[in-house]
Amino acid sequence: MSTQGFSLEPNANPKPANIRATTLENPGFGRFFTDHMAHVRWTSDAGWHGHRVCPYGPLTLDPAASVLHYAQEIFEGIKAYRHADGSVWTFRPEKNAARFRASARRLALPELSDDDFVGAIKALVAQDVDWVPTPASEADESSLYLRPFMIASEAFLGVRPANEVDFYVIASPVAAYFKGGVKPVSIWLSSNYKRASQGGTGFAKCGGNYAASLVAQREAAEHGCDQVAFLDAAENTWIEELGGMNLFFVTRDGRLVTPRLTGTILDGVTRDSLLQLARDEGLTPEERPISIDEWRDGVASGEIIEVFACGTAAVITPIGKLISEDATLEHPQGNEVAARLRKRLLDIQYGRAEDVHGWLTKL
Ligand code: PMP
Repeated sequence: MSTQGFSLEPNANPKPANIRATTLENPGFGRFFTDHMAHVRWTSDAGWHGHRVCPYGPLTLDPAASVLHYAQEIFEGIKAYRHADGSVWTFRPEKNAARFRASARRLALPELSDDDFVGAIKALVAQDVDWVPTPASEADESSLYLRPFMIASEAFLGVRPANEVDFYVIASPVAAYFKGGVKPVSIWLSSNYKRASQGGTGFAKCGGNYAASLVAQREAAEHGCDQVAFLDAAENTWIEELGGMNLFFVTRDGRLVTPRLTGTILDGVTRDSLLQLARDEGLTPEERPISIDEWRDGVASGEIIEVFACGTAAVITPIGKLISEDATLEHPQGNEVAARLRKRLLDIQYGRAEDVHGWLTKL
């Protein structure tokens, strides 16, 4: 049996239906995984080959595999949504596939075609479709989170691009990212650490960026904050993004402002979709540099009426506080634009509104 050119090695010991049902009732985020994974191998001689769906389980890696030493690795995050009629869809997978190729180029990894990227997702979800949660109501934001990733698996300790690479997709049923639903989060402004610099890997979704952000994230937690915001490395002035989300500001006169893509921040699929939804609404989105002073002064003067973060995992999350070494800035409680855009996006993703931009792909 094969789907999308992927051969199938069924899991002989899938999790029993009652365990799966209990997991789906309270999945949390990224803690439980489905019965299968998709795998494609690449070698410099043979290119991409061996497309298969196989049982989910530990990988066998040579201890000299270069990913373990030099972090030659990239990943993606995308969700599958179950609609009311039972069908399962994903959102703009070609955007994630293109970003995955951009990440691959930066990390000297081989590029994967849209067909293989989306094909692997389709083949895996076809096999594990019973793991896609069925939302109980509009407020239930559960979905199947998909994690495509590519690693340098060649056993070689020299520092050069690997000649053997593996691509996998694993899947995890998830509930809303932040426990307790949509409530404003507190942001820690990192002054000790930078996430990315010009010429670096900020625009790529590579593990190293996240490893480097963990100490700042821990600092955020120590200050009672949920997430960390980074400023640019060169001038320590310009707002970049959070550790795992892009940022938006709403002004009193109806402008929606987000930092422009400079090569140091991630080109978020949610960010791009919100810019389009804002245009659909007649709002004027602006992609431009925003300084930390503009953020602070704008909130203090009332010029900025909302600040929110966005990403696939948490959709849109309002920001309630900005905390730094020297100050705590309380944000206005208004959350109208964020709530409206959030609902519009979720309505499209869950099939409750017309997909006017052709963003959904059936799995
Ligand atoms: N910035 C960073 C650093 C991220 O890790 C993510 C999550 N992929 C985002 C922004 C949001 O991107 P997306 O909307 O594509 O999930």
